[in-house]
Amino acid sequence: MPSLAIPILLLASILLAPSLPSSSRLKTSLPLCSFLPPALASAFADSEEPPAAPSPPFEIAITIDDLPFVGGLGPGDSRPQATARILKALAEHHAPATGFVVCEREGDDLLRQWLAAGIELGNHSSAHRHLDRVSLADWSADLRACNAKLASLTGTPPRWFRYPFLQTGRTSGRRDSAMAIVNECDLRSAVVSVDTGEWALVAPFVQALSNGDHARADSIGSAYLEHLMAAIDHYRAFTRAHVGRDVRHILLLHANALAADRLDSLLTRIEAAGGRFVTLEEALADSVYALPDRYAGPIGLSWLYRVAAADSAWAWDDAQVQSMMERFPAE
Ligand SMILES: [Zn+2]
Repeated sequence: MPSLAIPILLLASILLAPSLPSSSRLKTSLPLCSFLPPALASAFADSEEPPAAPSPPFEIAITIDDLPFVGGLGPGDSRPQATARILKALAEHHAPATGFVVCEREGDDLLRQWLAAGIELGNHSSAHRHLDRVSLADWSADLRACNAKLASLTGTPPRWFRYPFLQTGRTSGRRDSAMAIVNECDLRSAVVSVDTGEWALVAPFVQALSNGDHARADSIGSAYLEHLMAAIDHYRAFTRAHVGRDVRHILLLHANALAADRLDSLLTRIEAAGGRFVTLEEALADSVYALPDRYAGPIGLSWLYRVAAADSAWAWDDAQVQSMMERFPAE
Protein backbone atom coordinates (compact mmCIF):
# COMPACT_ATOMS: atom_id res chain seq x y z
CA MET A 1 0.00 0.00 0.00
CA PRO A 2 1.47 3.44 -0.86
CA SER A 3 2.54 5.29 2.25
CA LEU A 4 0.02 8.08 1.69
CA ALA A 5 -2.91 5.69 1.54
CA ILE A 6 -3.41 5.48 5.29
CA PRO A 7 -3.83 9.21 5.96
CA ILE A 8 -6.05 9.57 2.90
CA LEU A 9 -8.22 6.66 4.02
CA LEU A 10 -8.40 8.04 7.56
CA LEU A 11 -9.38 11.44 6.25
CA ALA A 12 -12.01 9.99 3.96
CA SER A 13 -13.52 7.85 6.67
CA ILE A 14 -13.85 10.85 8.98
CA LEU A 15 -15.22 13.20 6.33
CA LEU A 16 -17.73 10.60 5.22
CA ALA A 17 -18.89 9.77 8.73
CA PRO A 18 -22.50 10.84 9.39
CA SER A 19 -22.47 14.22 11.07
CA LEU A 20 -24.09 14.65 14.45
CA PRO A 21 -26.60 17.34 15.39
CA SER A 22 -25.09 20.78 15.68
CA SER A 23 -26.18 20.90 19.31
CA SER A 24 -23.96 17.91 20.06
CA ARG A 25 -20.78 18.67 21.98
CA LEU A 26 -19.17 15.49 20.72
CA LYS A 27 -15.86 16.05 19.01
CA THR A 28 -16.75 14.12 15.85
CA SER A 29 -19.50 16.61 15.05
CA LEU A 30 -16.71 18.90 13.89
CA PRO A 31 -14.61 18.59 10.73
CA LEU A 32 -11.03 17.37 10.57
CA CYS A 33 -8.50 20.11 9.97
CA SER A 34 -5.07 18.53 9.92
CA PHE A 35 -3.34 15.58 8.30
CA LEU A 36 -1.32 12.73 9.71
CA PRO A 37 2.27 12.32 8.57
CA PRO A 38 2.55 8.78 7.12
CA ALA A 39 4.94 7.54 9.81
CA LEU A 40 2.64 8.62 12.61
CA ALA A 41 -0.36 7.33 10.72
CA SER A 42 1.20 3.88 10.56
CA ALA A 43 2.08 4.00 14.23
CA PHE A 44 -1.44 5.04 15.11
CA ALA A 45 -3.08 2.47 12.83
CA ASP A 46 -1.00 -0.27 14.43
CA SER A 47 -1.40 0.87 18.01
CA GLU A 48 -3.39 -1.49 20.16
CA GLU A 49 -3.64 -0.36 23.76
CA PRO A 50 -1.27 -2.49 25.80
CA PRO A 51 -2.82 -5.19 27.95
CA ALA A 52 -3.50 -4.35 31.57
CA ALA A 53 -0.38 -4.67 33.69
CA PRO A 54 0.51 -3.55 37.20
CA SER A 55 0.35 0.22 37.00
CA PRO A 56 3.64 2.05 37.65
CA PRO A 57 3.42 5.21 39.75
CA PHE A 58 2.49 8.38 37.95
CA GLU A 59 2.06 12.07 38.71
CA ILE A 60 -1.06 14.09 38.07
CA ALA A 61 -2.24 17.65 38.65
CA ILE A 62 -5.87 18.36 39.48
CA THR A 63 -7.49 21.27 37.65
CA ILE A 64 -11.08 22.32 38.26
CA ASP A 65 -12.88 24.48 35.72
CA ASP A 66 -15.94 26.71 35.71
CA LEU A 67 -15.59 28.21 39.15
CA PRO A 68 -17.40 29.61 41.08
CA PHE A 69 -19.73 26.63 40.42
CA VAL A 70 -21.47 25.08 37.44
CA GLY A 71 -24.78 23.23 37.22
CA GLY A 72 -27.46 22.44 39.76
CA LEU A 73 -27.53 20.77 43.16
CA GLY A 74 -29.74 18.32 44.97
CA PRO A 75 -32.44 19.42 47.41
CA GLY A 76 -31.13 20.91 50.63
CA ASP A 77 -27.63 21.43 49.25
CA SER A 78 -25.99 24.78 48.62
CA ARG A 79 -23.05 26.03 46.60
CA PRO A 80 -21.03 26.97 49.72
CA GLN A 81 -21.63 23.49 51.18
CA ALA A 82 -20.77 21.75 47.92
CA THR A 83 -17.63 23.87 47.53
CA ALA A 84 -16.63 23.01 51.10
CA ARG A 85 -16.90 19.29 50.29
CA ILE A 86 -14.64 19.68 47.24
CA LEU A 87 -12.08 21.60 49.29
CA LYS A 88 -12.23 19.08 52.14
CA ALA A 89 -11.45 16.23 49.75
CA LEU A 90 -8.49 18.10 48.26
CA ALA A 91 -7.12 18.89 51.70
CA GLU A 92 -7.54 15.37 53.05
CA HIS A 93 -5.64 13.93 50.09
CA HIS A 94 -3.01 16.70 50.15
CA ALA A 95 -3.86 17.28 46.52
CA PRO A 96 -2.80 20.66 45.21
CA ALA A 97 -5.34 21.96 42.71
CA THR A 98 -5.82 24.93 40.45
CA GLY A 99 -9.28 26.43 39.93
CA PHE A 100 -10.24 28.19 36.72
CA VAL A 101 -12.72 31.01 37.09
CA VAL A 102 -15.39 32.19 34.68
CA CYS A 103 -15.14 35.76 35.90
CA GLU A 104 -18.56 37.09 34.88
CA ARG A 105 -20.42 34.45 36.87
CA GLU A 106 -21.66 35.43 40.29
CA GLY A 107 -20.08 33.86 43.33
CA ASP A 108 -17.22 35.92 44.71
CA ASP A 109 -17.91 34.47 48.16
CA LEU A 110 -17.32 31.00 46.71
CA LEU A 111 -14.07 32.17 45.14
CA ARG A 112 -12.99 33.42 48.57
CA GLN A 113 -13.66 29.90 49.92
CA TRP A 114 -11.21 28.52 47.35
CA LEU A 115 -8.63 31.17 48.18
CA ALA A 116 -8.99 30.56 51.92
CA ALA A 117 -8.21 26.90 51.23
CA GLY A 118 -4.98 27.92 49.51
CA ILE A 119 -6.12 27.07 46.00
CA GLU A 120 -4.60 29.12 43.19
CA LEU A 121 -7.12 30.61 40.78
CA GLY A 122 -6.59 30.94 37.05
CA ASN A 123 -8.32 32.80 34.23
CA HIS A 124 -10.99 30.83 32.33
CA SER A 125 -12.24 33.98 30.54
CA SER A 126 -14.97 36.37 31.58
CA ALA A 127 -17.86 34.99 29.56
CA HIS A 128 -16.75 31.47 28.52
CA ARG A 129 -17.29 32.12 24.83
CA HIS A 130 -16.12 30.10 21.86
CA LEU A 131 -12.90 31.65 20.57
CA ASP A 132 -13.99 31.18 16.97
CA ARG A 133 -17.29 32.99 17.50
CA VAL A 134 -15.97 36.34 18.74
CA SER A 135 -13.58 38.94 17.34
CA LEU A 136 -10.03 38.75 18.61
CA ALA A 137 -10.46 42.28 19.99
CA ASP A 138 -13.47 41.17 22.04
CA TRP A 139 -11.68 38.01 23.10
CA SER A 140 -8.67 40.03 24.27
CA ALA A 141 -10.90 42.43 26.24
CA ASP A 142 -12.66 39.46 27.81
CA LEU A 143 -9.35 37.95 29.02
CA ARG A 144 -8.07 41.24 30.35
CA ALA A 145 -11.31 41.85 32.27
CA CYS A 146 -10.99 38.45 33.96
CA ASN A 147 -7.33 39.15 34.78
CA ALA A 148 -8.31 42.45 36.38
CA LYS A 149 -11.06 40.87 38.42
CA LEU A 150 -8.82 38.08 39.70
CA ALA A 151 -6.00 40.52 40.49
CA SER A 152 -8.35 42.62 42.59
CA LEU A 153 -9.82 39.56 44.32
CA THR A 154 -6.56 37.78 45.09
CA GLY A 155 -4.05 40.61 45.21
CA THR A 156 -1.93 39.17 42.42
CA PRO A 157 -2.56 38.70 38.70
CA PRO A 158 -3.33 35.11 37.66
CA ARG A 159 -0.60 33.01 36.05
CA TRP A 160 -2.66 30.48 34.15
CA PHE A 161 -5.26 30.55 31.41
CA ARG A 162 -7.59 27.70 30.49
CA TYR A 163 -9.21 28.08 27.07
CA PRO A 164 -13.02 27.73 27.26
CA PHE A 165 -14.02 24.39 25.71
CA LEU A 166 -10.25 23.83 25.20
CA GLN A 167 -10.74 25.54 21.84
CA THR A 168 -7.60 27.31 20.67
CA GLY A 169 -8.54 28.52 17.19
CA ARG A 170 -9.93 27.11 13.98
CA THR A 171 -6.88 28.04 11.89
CA SER A 172 -3.20 28.22 12.71
CA GLY A 173 -3.36 32.00 12.20
CA ARG A 174 -6.17 32.40 14.69
CA ARG A 175 -4.52 30.00 17.11
CA ASP A 176 -1.26 31.97 16.99
CA SER A 177 -3.04 35.34 17.36
CA ALA A 178 -4.98 34.07 20.36
CA MET A 179 -1.81 32.68 21.93
CA ALA A 180 -0.13 36.06 21.42
CA ILE A 181 -2.96 37.65 23.41
CA VAL A 182 -2.56 35.06 26.17
CA ASN A 183 1.16 35.86 26.28
CA GLU A 184 0.53 39.63 26.30
CA CYS A 185 -1.66 39.08 29.37
CA ASP A 186 1.30 37.35 31.08
CA LEU A 187 -0.66 34.11 31.17
CA ARG A 188 0.46 30.61 30.33
CA SER A 189 -1.94 28.22 28.69
CA ALA A 190 -2.89 25.50 31.17
CA VAL A 191 -3.44 22.66 28.74
CA VAL A 192 -5.15 19.41 29.69
CA SER A 193 -3.68 15.95 29.17
CA VAL A 194 -6.58 13.91 30.59
CA ASP A 195 -9.63 15.38 28.84
CA THR A 196 -12.93 14.24 30.32
CA GLY A 197 -16.65 14.27 29.59
CA GLU A 198 -17.97 14.19 33.17
CA TRP A 199 -20.08 17.28 32.42
CA ALA A 200 -22.49 14.95 30.60
CA LEU A 201 -23.52 13.32 33.89
CA VAL A 202 -24.27 16.41 35.95
CA ALA A 203 -27.84 17.17 34.81
CA PRO A 204 -29.02 13.54 35.17
CA PHE A 205 -27.35 13.36 38.59
CA VAL A 206 -29.09 16.49 39.85
CA GLN A 207 -32.39 15.29 38.37
CA ALA A 208 -32.08 11.98 40.19
CA LEU A 209 -31.39 13.77 43.48
CA SER A 210 -34.33 16.10 42.89
CA ASN A 211 -36.56 13.09 42.20
CA GLY A 212 -35.41 11.43 45.41
CA ASP A 213 -34.06 8.54 43.29
CA HIS A 214 -30.96 7.87 45.32
CA ALA A 215 -30.24 4.53 43.67
CA ARG A 216 -30.02 6.26 40.28
CA ALA A 217 -27.94 9.10 41.71
CA ASP A 218 -25.57 6.51 43.15
CA SER A 219 -25.28 4.75 39.78
CA ILE A 220 -24.44 8.05 38.13
CA GLY A 221 -21.85 8.77 40.81
CA SER A 222 -20.27 5.39 40.09
CA ALA A 223 -20.31 6.12 36.34
CA TYR A 224 -18.52 9.43 37.06
CA LEU A 225 -15.71 7.57 38.84
CA GLU A 226 -15.52 4.84 36.18
CA HIS A 227 -15.31 7.40 33.39
CA LEU A 228 -12.60 9.46 35.05
CA MET A 229 -10.46 6.43 35.90
CA ALA A 230 -10.95 5.10 32.36
CA ALA A 231 -9.85 8.48 30.99
CA ILE A 232 -6.70 8.44 33.12
CA ASP A 233 -5.92 4.89 31.97
CA HIS A 234 -6.63 5.77 28.34
CA TYR A 235 -4.41 8.84 28.27
CA ARG A 236 -1.62 7.09 30.12
CA ALA A 237 -1.67 4.26 27.59
CA PHE A 238 -1.89 6.77 24.73
CA THR A 239 1.13 8.62 26.07
CA ARG A 240 3.19 5.47 26.41
CA ALA A 241 2.27 4.52 22.83
CA HIS A 242 2.83 7.93 21.22
CA VAL A 243 5.34 9.74 23.43
CA GLY A 244 7.19 6.61 24.51
CA ARG A 245 6.85 7.17 28.25
CA ASP A 246 4.42 8.21 30.95
CA VAL A 247 4.21 11.97 31.49
CA ARG A 248 3.02 14.21 34.28
CA HIS A 249 -0.69 14.44 33.64
CA ILE A 250 -3.17 17.29 34.00
CA LEU A 251 -6.72 16.18 34.80
CA LEU A 252 -9.78 18.24 33.85
CA LEU A 253 -12.65 18.36 36.34
CA HIS A 254 -15.42 20.89 36.91
CA ALA A 255 -16.76 22.54 40.07
CA ASN A 256 -20.08 20.73 39.99
CA ALA A 257 -22.38 18.55 42.10
CA LEU A 258 -20.58 15.34 41.12
CA ALA A 259 -17.20 16.66 42.20
CA ALA A 260 -18.79 17.71 45.49
CA ASP A 261 -20.19 14.21 45.95
CA ARG A 262 -17.36 12.04 44.56
CA LEU A 263 -14.04 13.88 44.61
CA ASP A 264 -12.92 12.12 47.79
CA SER A 265 -13.59 8.72 46.18
CA LEU A 266 -11.90 9.79 42.96
CA LEU A 267 -8.73 10.92 44.71
CA THR A 268 -8.67 7.66 46.71
CA ARG A 269 -8.90 5.68 43.47
CA ILE A 270 -6.16 7.71 41.80
CA GLU A 271 -3.88 7.06 44.77
CA ALA A 272 -4.72 3.36 44.69
CA ALA A 273 -3.77 3.29 41.00
CA GLY A 274 -0.33 4.72 41.82
CA GLY A 275 -1.10 8.40 41.31
CA ARG A 276 0.76 11.11 43.19
CA PHE A 277 -0.66 14.62 43.15
CA VAL A 278 1.52 17.47 41.87
CA THR A 279 0.88 21.13 41.20
CA LEU A 280 -0.08 22.40 37.77
CA GLU A 281 3.28 24.17 37.61
CA GLU A 282 5.12 20.91 38.30
CA ALA A 283 3.07 19.08 35.70
CA LEU A 284 3.63 21.74 33.05
CA ALA A 285 7.39 21.45 33.61
CA ASP A 286 7.22 18.05 31.86
CA SER A 287 8.89 18.43 28.47
CA VAL A 288 5.85 16.96 26.71
CA TYR A 289 4.17 20.34 27.23
CA ALA A 290 6.96 22.07 25.34
CA LEU A 291 6.43 20.01 22.18
CA PRO A 292 5.11 21.89 19.15
CA ASP A 293 1.34 22.13 18.87
CA ARG A 294 0.47 20.37 15.60
CA TYR A 295 -3.24 21.05 15.66
CA ALA A 296 -5.35 23.94 14.43
CA GLY A 297 -9.06 23.31 14.23
CA PRO A 298 -12.39 23.71 15.93
CA ILE A 299 -12.15 20.84 18.40
CA GLY A 300 -11.14 21.17 22.03
CA LEU A 301 -8.51 18.46 22.46
CA SER A 302 -6.16 16.97 25.00
CA TRP A 303 -2.65 18.33 24.56
CA LEU A 304 -1.50 14.74 23.97
CA TYR A 305 -3.63 14.40 20.83
CA ARG A 306 -2.30 17.76 19.65
CA VAL A 307 1.37 16.86 19.90
CA ALA A 308 1.02 13.29 18.67
CA ALA A 309 -1.10 14.49 15.73
CA ALA A 310 -3.06 11.25 16.05
CA ASP A 311 -6.12 12.51 14.23
CA SER A 312 -9.36 10.69 15.04
CA ALA A 313 -7.92 9.52 18.37
CA TRP A 314 -10.71 11.54 19.98
CA ALA A 315 -13.16 8.85 18.90
CA TRP A 316 -12.38 7.30 22.29
CA ASP A 317 -13.53 10.45 24.09
CA ASP A 318 -16.66 10.67 21.95
CA ALA A 319 -17.55 7.05 22.64
CA GLN A 320 -17.26 7.68 26.38
CA VAL A 321 -19.58 10.70 26.28
CA GLN A 322 -22.03 8.94 23.96
CA SER A 323 -22.20 5.94 26.23
CA MET A 324 -22.79 8.07 29.35
CA MET A 325 -25.50 10.10 27.63
CA GLU A 326 -27.25 6.97 26.39
CA ARG A 327 -27.08 5.32 29.79
CA PHE A 328 -28.18 8.41 31.70
CA PRO A 329 -30.13 10.68 29.34
CA ALA A 330 -31.04 14.11 30.63
CA GLU A 331 -34.82 14.32 31.09
ZN1 LIG B 1 -15.19 25.74 31.08
